[in-house]
Amino acid sequence: MPKDFLKDAKDEYDVVVIGSGLAGLTAANMLARNGYNVLLLEQHYKLGGMATWFKRPGGHIFDISLHGFPYGMVKSCRRYWTPEIADSIVQLKHIRFDNPMFSLTTSFNRDDFTKLLIEQFQVDPAAVHGFFDAARKMDFQDDQHTTTGELLNRFFPGREDVIRLLMEPITYANGSTLEDPAISYGIVFSNFMSKGVFTFQGGTDRLIHLMEAEMRRNGVDIRIKCDVEKIDCQGGRVRSVTVNGRTIKTKAVVSNANLKQTIFRLVGEEVFDRDYVDEARAVRLNNSSTQVYMALKPDDTIEESTGDLLFSSTAPLFRTEMLLSREITSRTFSFYYPRTRPQGKPRCLIVSSTNARYEDWADLPEDEYQASKQDLVETTLDALDKYVPNIRDRIAHAEASTPRTFQHYTHHVAGASFGTKFEGLQVSFDLPKQIAGLYHAGSVGIIMSGWLGAMNYGRMVASDVDNLLATNCSQADAAVSEVGS
Ligand SMILES: Cc1cc2nc3c(=O)[nH]c(=O)nc-3n(C[C@H](O)[C@H](O)[C@H](O)COP(=O)(O)OP(=O)(O)OC[C@H]3O[C@@H](n4cnc5c(N)ncnc54)[C@H](O)[C@@H]3O)c2cc1C
Repeated sequence: MPKDFLKDAKDEYDVVVIGSGLAGLTAANMLARNGYNVLLLEQHYKLGGMATWFKRPGGHIFDISLHGFPYGMVKSCRRYWTPEIADSIVQLKHIRFDNPMFSLTTSFNRDDFTKLLIEQFQVDPAAVHGFFDAARKMDFQDDQHTTTGELLNRFFPGREDVIRLLMEPITYANGSTLEDPAISYGIVFSNFMSKGVFTFQGGTDRLIHLMEAEMRRNGVDIRIKCDVEKIDCQGGRVRSVTVNGRTIKTKAVVSNANLKQTIFRLVGEEVFDRDYVDEARAVRLNNSSTQVYMALKPDDTIEESTGDLLFSSTAPLFRTEMLLSREITSRTFSFYYPRTRPQGKPRCLIVSSTNARYEDWADLPEDEYQASKQDLVETTLDALDKYVPNIRDRIAHAEASTPRTFQHYTHHVAGASFGTKFEGLQVSFDLPKQIAGLYHAGSVGIIMSGWLGAMNYGRMVASDVDNLLATNCSQADAAVSEVGS
């Protein structure tokens, strides 16, 4: 008999959360904390979605998306999770850039960037301050037609080197390009510039285990290996979900599955207005990624001056097309020193990440696919040798992942690393206007992606659900007292 992953699950919950990415986890935790009956369904055997890790023999634990997030995570983790989680967030102090235009190390905050731009790049101070202020002031209400390229050119015309310094890390952080709306750049860039780049001490495994423990304390019913097949909607409102052959009734669904998957596969376009379907169809996905995971032999170490995050590129200029090309010229190396996991075996690991297009990998025949992955490992080792000399003699393990890997583990359409482009935000916001009780929370619109964006979006949607359920409750109470009077 196959194991029943829904054993003893109830037939009805106040809320069903589909997917355990950081948005799904946060929504589930907030709603359970507010006293609702919450069922969390995850198709994979692990919680976390893209916030995940894997182990290899020899005590090596590789993080997939723990490379850096803004300081805002401290406040969000303290409010929506626990003090222990918030207190484990530490700064990455050495952010390095190395490309044909410049080489430098920075703490990646406004003070240091201002100094660098004025002293090293010789930019007019008025332009530097004006740019930071303009980026800081941006919010959702702003003009959405100005592109990031136009914003940067307004303050730094003709300065390709400056634009590269300001843009390269954000393109890596959320896939945004010079052609995307400037607000998606400005909000994320300013978040980082407030205090720098931060990480979670103890690794993603520790974070997700702490979150799981907190959700259990709050009473979330957590189920892995539960692949939701359908969200059932009738009469303009959500009624139940179909999962592992069971129908579970609910008053509200928060889908953390990819926006397009939610609309077109889990619900079905026939229940939505035509205009909404057209808008949803037009939403573009963000790019995907390739990664190479490398572990040094147990007794080997790397000088910490090598950096925590290193944006390396051999491309003469910064161009979106080049960042996505199979001919890789730009790699972001994350260095994990033994302090990353003080509780584990002391290990030095390196993860190289590169933005990539799903279509470049999707249809490769198996032998070509495997050969391309091996080539990715080899060319990455060649590039890394400049920063970690004799790397080939020093590694104990190396392997690669591709857009196909990300799609396989998270069911993200086209393995999108950062959800959708900007237009996905409105479609996600509008979902409950189409079907009462149906919400989406997860990487959309660049702004709501990444660890901080996803977590904050989960919290926002949880309060919308809370409002809906509280209104339903007070209407039911009023009806009961009317009957009783
Ligand atoms: C290579 C890489 C590097 C990154 N680096 C960083 C970084 O340094 N800093 C940063 O802030 N962000 C980074 N990110 C982005 C960040 O990890 C994501 O934006 C964020 O974790 C996404 O969270 P989410 O809530 O949108 O859900 P996701 O992580 O996308 O999770 C969705 C979950 O839903 C589940 N699911 C889907 N369909 C179903 C179904 N039908 N039934 C049940 N479950 C389902 C999936 O299995 C998954 O667990 C990176 C991402 C990648 C891929």
